[in-house]
Amino acid sequence: MRIDVISIFPQFFDALGLSLFGKATDSGLLGFSAHDLREWATDKHRSVDDTPAGGGAGMVMKADVWGKALEEVFAEPVTPGAALADSSEGVSVAAVDMVSGTDSLDGTETAPEAAMGRGGRAPRRVLVIPTPSGETFTQRVAEDLAYADHLVFACGRYEGIDSRVAEHYRESDVEVRELSIGDYVLNGGEVASIVMIEAVVRLIPGFMGNPESLVEESHGAAGLLEYPVYTRPANWNERDIPQILMSGHHANIARWRRERAFDKTMARRPDMIEALNPEQLDKKDRAY
Ligand code: SAM
Repeated sequence: MRIDVISIFPQFFDALGLSLFGKATDSGLLGFSAHDLREWATDKHRSVDDTPAGGGAGMVMKADVWGKALEEVFAEPVTPGAALADSSEGVSVAAVDMVSGTDSLDGTETAPEAAMGRGGRAPRRVLVIPTPSGETFTQRVAEDLAYADHLVFACGRYEGIDSRVAEHYRESDVEVRELSIGDYVLNGGEVASIVMIEAVVRLIPGFMGNPESLVEESHGAAGLLEYPVYTRPANWNERDIPQILMSGHHANIARWRRERAFDKTMARRPDMIEALNPEQLDKKDRAY
């Protein structure tokens, strides 16, 4: 998978290099670049914004500058097949359709070697526009985006990006996802993009040191929150680790964890219990 971010503050993304993300880019599992939007500004002040059409407060980011930036970044070759879609490893993710590969702004075909990859399929390119007015970003959305070959995050500032940029790309072969990380307003799309990038890349096989840690996580395939976790020392501040976890009896531990996950989910997120489907339950759960 290749990820590009475009922002007037590309330094925000330096923080990604501190974690497993840095290892994944060093090893070639992920390609990543953070671009300064001002590289595509044309006036002597390198302006990226202008006053809102129709009047009102604030500034709006210019479609012509974003258009040039996105055209160039989407023209970058990507390697289809590096993403989750071609993997047989066991992360539970939703099925998605593949899109055909054409170049971004003018709809012309890209070079065959860039457009068609392993198995002859075109790369799936997605433009992510973080915005508080978008669809809510959830684990399901992260699972879907983990199938993409090329993700480009367009980080807005001020009152956001001229709406014609999203409209234009909706009519191209690039998928557009306008996504919100929650019902609150941030100053810019950089932090929201980092949140989404972290949630997506940890689903790519080979990213996590121990992929087992994905299996029973909150919001995973079980549809529950994770059970409570403990580690040594066995006694801390007069509190013991639950005895059963020290028993070495794997079946009993698994049952205990399942029940605690149910209890926690029932207490904190009853809507998730309501949303469970029959395949996510076993006979012993029916008491709930
Ligand atoms: N005027 C916009 C509105 O009312 O919807 C808010 C613009 S906000 C100040 C500037 C930028 O921050 C947005 O373009 C977006 O990139 C980002 N942003 C703010 N809140 C966000 C959220 N909850 N989720 C995702 N991105 C957000």
